[in-house]
Amino acid sequence: MAEQTRDHILSKSEQIPVVAATDVVVIGAGPAGLSAAVSAARNGCSVTLVERYHHLGGMASGGMVLVLDDMVNEGNEIVTTGIVTEFVDRMESQDGAVYPPREDCLTNWEMWQKWSRWGCIDFHKTGMPQPIIHAVAFDPDCWKRVSLDLVREAGVNLRLHSWFSEALIEDNRVTGIIVQTKLGRQAIKAGMVIDASGDLDVAASAGASFINGQYIVTTVFRLMDVDTDRAEAFEYSEPEAYKKLDREARRRIGGAWGMWWLKTPLPGVVWCNCPHMPGYDGISPEDMVAAEFEGRERMMNLLHFARENLPGFESAKMLGAAEQMGIRQTRLLQGEYVVTKKDVASRRYFADSVCRGRDYYTPYRALLPKGIDNLIVAGRHYSVDSDAQKLSREIPPCMSQGEAAGVAVSLALNAGTALRDVDAKLIQKQMRAQGADPGDVPSANALIEDTVTA
Ligand SMILES: Cc1cc2nc3c(=O)[nH]c(=O)nc-3n(C[C@H](O)[C@H](O)[C@H](O)COP(=O)(O)OP(=O)(O)OC[C@H]3O[C@@H](n4cnc5c(N)ncnc54)[C@H](O)[C@@H]3O)c2cc1C
Repeated sequence: MAEQTRDHILSKSEQIPVVAATDVVVIGAGPAGLSAAVSAARNGCSVTLVERYHHLGGMASGGMVLVLDDMVNEGNEIVTTGIVTEFVDRMESQDGAVYPPREDCLTNWEMWQKWSRWGCIDFHKTGMPQPIIHAVAFDPDCWKRVSLDLVREAGVNLRLHSWFSEALIEDNRVTGIIVQTKLGRQAIKAGMVIDASGDLDVAASAGASFINGQYIVTTVFRLMDVDTDRAEAFEYSEPEAYKKLDREARRRIGGAWGMWWLKTPLPGVVWCNCPHMPGYDGISPEDMVAAEFEGRERMMNLLHFARENLPGFESAKMLGAAEQMGIRQTRLLQGEYVVTKKDVASRRYFADSVCRGRDYYTPYRALLPKGIDNLIVAGRHYSVDSDAQKLSREIPPCMSQGEAAGVAVSLALNAGTALRDVDAKLIQKQMRAQGADPGDVPSANALIEDTVTA
């Protein structure tokens, strides 16, 4: 067990320098962590943001997950706003984001041909053509630039190349964290802690309850020099021939969604959100090595087939795999409330909802571990069962969770209370003031049960 002095952490024989003392430390600079850090800083907190890699964005940039989904409900209302909208606007102004104008969000073949290869479809609907919806295709490097701008403008103290390794606990509080760097171990003291690692690294280290979830993993990649006009012309002019070749392409990659390639803001560059590889544990180094070998082999199988057989892909080349393995689900918090698949599927409204995605609402309690006063989580590892997480883990709702967590820590610090004692109504109010939709006003199709209250 580590002991603390003012300037150092004494851990057995080791003296660990304190490199920052901050109101709030956020661990993980993916979509959730970035939003949390910016939100907390804008609400007056000093914030330190810790990230293990050299870039900001997590799966959205390093993982090359290149379409923002789950932004609209069935009524076509945009439900993930606030910092999400800022990201989209800034990327668009740098030619780094593409999405359909509102008048194109229709269900017909004309719009399908115009927008489906941008990934702007409601893939939860089974009939064809699927509706065109507000979803945003973006460029990963543009995401990194916008992230840096937002973090710098908000005055966040950024610490890259720093791997979280241990939570420091006293009574029911996390008093700080230890990170591993090239210079050795370093300590960061904090009043409030936001775990946005995606894998629940901090909460697990602090002793919070969790389950080990698992889902398919993916070495996402991009191809360049693709003639997308020619590929689309073939798809629509010779649908039977296209279907046969496409089926074989998907067999070669070994697991893909309906469309294995999508357009990106860079002409001739396509995004391949595949292969789907089950059975790997996203926090096991051994499994990640095996997945790296398997994923790259499958990618090249597909490329060779595409070059030889698919119109439009004759000159295609491998632009490269994402820097980070595509991990969808690992540890999931089992906190003050555990969101179920039924909650998500039935559009269950919660009085303490602080953010939302598509048609689901996230209660504040689902961000809080039991028994720890000053730790909150945001992102894909929130308190949820494994099946529900598969339906509620997209980038924009993770960002909204982060924005709400940033508000919550500022309210707790100002009031000098534990996070669980923050009134969700105050979070909702501040989210609205920031332009974000906290889900406090249920949509017409929501399931409202009096028993589900804060
Ligand atoms: C292959 C794939 C396809 C997907 N497709 C879509 C899609 O089309 N649209 C969509 O909206 N969503 C999609 N998703 C889901 C979405 O990308 C994730 O759920 C979302 O990015 C989660 O955000 P997050 O911030 O919670 O976690 P992450 O994006 O995983 O970010 C976590 C951050 O924490 C950092 N970190 C982790 N551990 C540590 C540590 N110990 N110390 C320091 N830093 C640490 C990581 O480096 C990372 O930056 C997809 C996901 C995958 C994997």
